[in-house]
Amino acid sequence: MRKPMIAGNWKLNKTIAEARELSGDLAKCLANFEAVDIVVAPVFTSLAAVQEMIKGTAIKLAGQNCYPEETGAFTGEVSPLMLKDAGCEYVIIGHSERRQLLEESDTFINQKIIKALEAGLKPILCIGETLQERENGDMLDVLANQVKGGLANLSATHMADVVIAYEPVWAIGTGKTASDEQAQEAHSFIRGLLQGMFTKEVAFATRILYGGSVKPSNVDGLMAQDDIDGALVGGASLKAEDFIRLVRFE
Ligand code: PEP
Repeated sequence: MRKPMIAGNWKLNKTIAEARELSGDLAKCLANFEAVDIVVAPVFTSLAAVQEMIKGTAIKLAGQNCYPEETGAFTGEVSPLMLKDAGCEYVIIGHSERRQLLEESDTFINQKIIKALEAGLKPILCIGETLQERENGDMLDVLANQVKGGLANLSATHMADVVIAYEPVWAIGTGKTASDEQAQEAHSFIRGLLQGMFTKEVAFATRILYGGSVKPSNVDGLMAQDDIDGALVGGASLKAEDFIRLVRFE
């Protein structure tokens, strides 16, 4: 069976001192909580401090992004190798905020996925449609293009380390969550795409997280869906009490 994952995307929040406090609170409560893969993704400047706080606990570290080169003249960027060196096991790639604000393409996202895997990181590939795309009836095409583009040139073996996060753009940070049924429909479609691109076994084994205003009041219904294997959480990951409740979903 697929092990559930609850991942906190802290986005552009928390100073080093604040990140230390939040990760310390999580470490105290979740140190030995092995039933779920627990992941936190602080800003780059807090990675070292958070790594220090969660060392030896069940909590794992993630980067929020990476650049698809190891080293070189790429001012302001961070490489997968450097994230690995800082203690990261995962890296979020293709978040909708980066797709929208920085115009990241599926091709660029695919390059990052490949370089992350080469460095020994596990990518969390984010995909999702905008409200307009959903209302125009383009949702399935958009998801198919993002999955096929993002995972191009990958093998079934690579897929053992890939996590997908379905995050409808209209639900991110808006307080509007997809209904359990809407989320399940998209997840089941994505699993079908994986079967077509790879194998039935890959489709069955790949974890697909839901993201978009997940909070303590809606996590249980979402997690009860057959094809929802966890959550990528923004706002509700910034308060220890809320994030701990999400990790302890029922
Ligand atoms: C996210 O940033 O990936 C996200 C889902 O944010 P929020 O939970 O705040 O909607």
